[in-house]
Amino acid sequence: MPPSVIVHGGAGNVAPERRAKHVAGCERAVAAALEVLRAGGRALDAAQRAVEVLEDDPLFNAGWGSCLNEDGGVELDAALMDGDGLRYGAVCAMPSVRHPIAVARAVMEEGRHAIYAGEGALRFAEARGFARVPDAELITEQARERWEAVRAGRAEAGWSGGTVGAVAFDGTHVAAATSTGGMMDKRRGRVGDSPLPGAGTYADDLAGGVSATGHGEKILRVGVGFLVVAALRGGADPMAAAEQAIATLAARVEGTGGVIALDCAGRPGRANNTETMIWAWGSTDGARESGW
Ligand code: ASP
Repeated sequence: MPPSVIVHGGAGNVAPERRAKHVAGCERAVAAALEVLRAGGRALDAAQRAVEVLEDDPLFNAGWGSCLNEDGGVELDAALMDGDGLRYGAVCAMPSVRHPIAVARAVMEEGRHAIYAGEGALRFAEARGFARVPDAELITEQARERWEAVRAGRAEAGWSGGTVGAVAFDGTHVAAATSTGGMMDKRRGRVGDSPLPGAGTYADDLAGGVSATGHGEKILRVGVGFLVVAALRGGADPMAAAEQAIATLAARVEGTGGVIALDCAGRPGRANNTETMIWAWGSTDGARESGW
């Protein structure tokens, strides 16, 4: 199979009239990642690039456009994993930085620790040249309105969709990346599935890679990412592996969400048990697919 990338823009319930816009955002991320792959970049570089494009897109709950926490501030979770050597880097509950996935990459490259949280994550980021930006630079009007509605009891708190993720295959290696603002009105310090290995993000060159989205508290209890990769390691078809993991999420903890995956030969899979999961896929030979 040629190099390829699959991305998601979150499981949830995007209104029908807005779906095409969200899909277009994911298609732009795929195009950017394919450029990286065509230029000879590694799967890891491509997955990171796709997620950076989505962090820059205010439609999605990652980077610019993130959810607000109970204090009306922003705390970010992001992770990336290299299937080559099972290298991992993540940040969680990190204050506002424009590209949390790039900080996760720096964590992985340094290799001393795998996950940094909160102020420690910010200290690490600043020491590596990533600037803290005012929360206002990452908060969109729409996210603030939604948060105000939740605070006023006009909307339900909790998981709000729009998390982003990518899995890339460069012909040899697989890599996965996930980034999110988490859940609307979450408590300060809350960490979801996205930055946790085997929960929201996992990649192994001997099996494949996965990025999950959905109700984080439930996804991490089931270890959805690892379920997918374990099935791939056993030779499962990626579509079946994804469907089985989501079925387990539903059966064991009544969880809702979705996953995207590529196996170590580059075959794609995805599944969700939500109304929508925005996704796009492309390969360097020009094939493209997308949907919700
Ligand atoms: N899984 C994310 C979290 O719980 C949310 C999402 O995927 O929309 O932080």
